[in-house]
Amino acid sequence: MDKKRLVILGGGESGVGTALLAQAKGYDVFVSDFGIIKDPYKTMLQSHDIAFEDGGHTEQLILNADEVMKSPGIPDDAPIVSKIIAERIPIISEIEFAARFTNAKMVCITGSNGKTTTTSLIFHILQQAKLNVGLAGNIGRSLALQILEAPKDYYVIELSSFQLDNMYDFRADIAVLMNITPDHLDRYNFEMQRYVDSKMRIMQNQRPSDSFIFWAQDEHIASEIEKRRRHTAPATTPSSQPEREGHPTLQPFYDKDFAQLGLSFSQIGVHNQRNALAAYLAAKSLGIDEQIIRQSLISFPGVEHRLERVAVRNGVTYINDSKATNVDACYVAMQAVEAPVVLIVGGKDKGNDYSVLHDIVSRKCRALVYLGADNSKLHHAFDHLGLPVADTHSMADCVKACHTFAHKGDTVLLSPCCASFDLFHNMEDRGEQFKQQVEKLEDDNT
Ligand code: ADP
Repeated sequence: MDKKRLVILGGGESGVGTALLAQAKGYDVFVSDFGIIKDPYKTMLQSHDIAFEDGGHTEQLILNADEVMKSPGIPDDAPIVSKIIAERIPIISEIEFAARFTNAKMVCITGSNGKTTTTSLIFHILQQAKLNVGLAGNIGRSLALQILEAPKDYYVIELSSFQLDNMYDFRADIAVLMNITPDHLDRYNFEMQRYVDSKMRIMQNQRPSDSFIFWAQDEHIASEIEKRRRHTAPATTPSSQPEREGHPTLQPFYDKDFAQLGLSFSQIGVHNQRNALAAYLAAKSLGIDEQIIRQSLISFPGVEHRLERVAVRNGVTYINDSKATNVDACYVAMQAVEAPVVLIVGGKDKGNDYSVLHDIVSRKCRALVYLGADNSKLHHAFDHLGLPVADTHSMADCVKACHTFAHKGDTVLLSPCCASFDLFHNMEDRGEQFKQQVEKLEDDNT
């Protein structure tokens, strides 16, 4: 029998992991990357005799595929993807492919904000409970590679909407949906409903024995669940069977539950309490001991670049929230930290509406420091609030300005609302540079 041909678009972590697993499972595999494949990944492909190309796509070698695995970063309107769609070749994600080869329990997390924190926290709890667990998806190593090289009993998987878009038969034993707020709309034809539908795919294929954990105060989620229940309900539902097969067990949570359950969490902010609640419910659903869960919430070390406490200098607390690349993320950070705040904003703006920040900035900020290649939109958005502002174009100048503005007891918060590409390689680079500059500040008290 002919081998099935799997073509993989994108030779990064997920692409190369998928290639190795597919090869081991007897597929005819070809990897194609429009950009340049990094050397370590090239070496992995070469050492497994897997055919690949980079710097362009050869259509004849791609359009003869039985199935295509597309890396989540490649948009649907990329020319090669349009051609694959026109040829009606199924396009799947790494997680869809890899999950065919494991019976492990899948704990999946999505949302517009809070994915990485909640995923890392659930992973931490499962590790503390001594379960054989892997971390995958947007963080950690390729799921496919882990299944091939060191299979686990549980996987905690962070899913972006782009990954969910190419998932069809995959079923999450536990699905967590944190929230849905506008993001990445450029990839969804600027239609919010399409982005919402993408996020809701996390519950597709779930059964009554599975859990669907969600933040009940979100604007969209509850009504979307209802829509799906109505849509799939049989014409006449016998009253003895209210829960039709195919609907997961719903586990909504509310902000007030955190106090009611008497939980403590190592991370600050109401948004982090939500992340803790989601993780708590996921761990409970897996039957993990209550005490282990509660202790793990306290011992969780946090995630770098998310409200990360960097240092205290001259009585001023410096916090790195470089990951806050949209206005919502900055808002929750502002809610979480103690006033007075010197707030650093700026970078590559994705069409931000800053007006939602006006009230909280007026109430809590001592000063604003703009950090971007072009700060004109920020001047326009905030100067009228009447706070002192500084205009900076490098991290060194930015931290100096913060140092000048801040008084003892203040918080300096880097929570920029924007992507970092105008001045930095990525948000990690921005956060690292912030930390380096803060470390350099002299502490007059030492
Ligand atoms: P994601 O992986 O979805 O980007 P992260 O856990 O990395 O989420 O957090 C990114 C930023 O989003 C954080 O810096 C914080 O400001 C904000 N955030 C985190 N959790 C939540 C939440 N549950 N609701 C709203 N905002 C959140």
